[in-house]
Amino acid sequence: MPENRVLIIDDDARICRIIKRVAGDLGIECLAIDNPELFEATNHDFKPNVIFMDLQMPKVDGVELLRKLAEQHSSTAIILVSGMDRSVIETTEELGKSFGLNMAGILKKPVDVDEISSMLLMQFEAVPSPRERKDTQITKEELAQAIERKELLVHYQPQVNLKSGKVVGFEALVRWQHPDHGLLFPDVFIPLAEQHEDLIGPLTFSVLDRIFEDEMLQGELTSDLAVSVNLSATMLSDLSLPDRVANLFNDHSVGTERLMLEVTESGAMQDPSLTMDILTRLRLKNIKLSLDDFGTGFSSMVQLYRLPFTEIKVDKSFVMVAMHNKEAAAIARITIELGHSLGLEVVAEGIEDQETQQWLKGIGCDIGQGYHISRPVAAEHFITWLQDYNKKNRSKTS
Ligand code: C2E
Ligand code: CA
Ligand code: CA
Repeated sequence: MPENRVLIIDDDARICRIIKRVAGDLGIECLAIDNPELFEATNHDFKPNVIFMDLQMPKVDGVELLRKLAEQHSSTAIILVSGMDRSVIETTEELGKSFGLNMAGILKKPVDVDEISSMLLMQFEAVPSPRERKDTQITKEELAQAIERKELLVHYQPQVNLKSGKVVGFEALVRWQHPDHGLLFPDVFIPLAEQHEDLIGPLTFSVLDRIFEDEMLQGELTSDLAVSVNLSATMLSDLSLPDRVANLFNDHSVGTERLMLEVTESGAMQDPSLTMDILTRLRLKNIKLSLDDFGTGFSSMVQLYRLPFTEIKVDKSFVMVAMHNKEAAAIARITIELGHSLGLEVVAEGIEDQETQQWLKGIGCDIGQGYHISRPVAAEHFITWLQDYNKKNRSKTS
């Protein structure tokens, strides 16, 4: 059986024909069915790598098929095909993700041949998808050992003042240089660490230690930048945290005002009075606090108003699609307004193109972060990037 197989399930024969032709041109084996009742058996026998799925068919709808695939723990890439409103298709896609399915994109009817072809090319690329990376199984003991052996690294991603263009800080993002699996991303091991108090504490401090080992806060270039570090919600029940963090900065003769701790919205609400105690003491030690992933939780307004945050980060899921999704753009915009009316600085992360960056600047967002500015990179690359960037930015503003 060839490696690359595509299954189309759509009662519209024309759509089936078009996708089949594009796939055929790319040398991909393709099978189309128009009867949803045949879907399960065909899927089982044909074992496609990609499924193009129509959302509305007689008798069965797309959601039911998604549920069936979820029951089978399918990891096949699923592309939704529909002529309905984009918001309906996107909601269905979110639902599929919440089922744990590998939702790989949306194809809006009337379909575009080039779009089908680029979707297929992307699916059959040789690079492992993040999902495959996610499948790497890690044990608690392995992670504990990795922390001890200093296998955790930190990559740095710049944050830029959108108005002046100046770099104002950087976010520290943990990576694990695994001896067998290569470079692992945090989604593979942070959830495990968060389940064990004796892992997440050492992990967080190994990230903080690494920042000093990388001399990220000491070199001339970085000496007036702020570092943002992610703090798991589970750390917000450790009363010794404010002192430990402040002592670490004192030991390295670096002012605590250079540190921003990022806490996610859901995290900030587990045990309100304990959280409030710890966050307030962090602030009293001049450490800044950022509410991360804003817009993805539920208690946003109350959190913001009651807890001593200094910054909010508009979640990247809104920023990344703002240029072609009205709803996402509206959420980004009101978050910026809300932040400002509460006297907070607003960071937008997930900026992937110039258009989005210009738009955010235009609506008054303070700070930007995203692949368009720079991907997160190792310390030495960050320093080189910073030198180049500062040179260019100076010549632009002078
Ligand atoms: P986060 O705090 O929301 O971090 C931003 C994530 O978005 C990073 O993923 C970053 O690489 C990615 N990103 C930045 N710009 C763009 C962009 O333009 N487009 C897209 N598509 N993505 C962008 P990363 O490094 O994989 O980290 C994932 C999450 O892992 C972080 O999400 C954070 O919640 C967690 N994490 C990372 N480092 C640490 C850590 O030291 N401690 C804890 N507790 N959690 C960490
Ligand atoms: Ca963050
Ligand atoms: Ca975030």
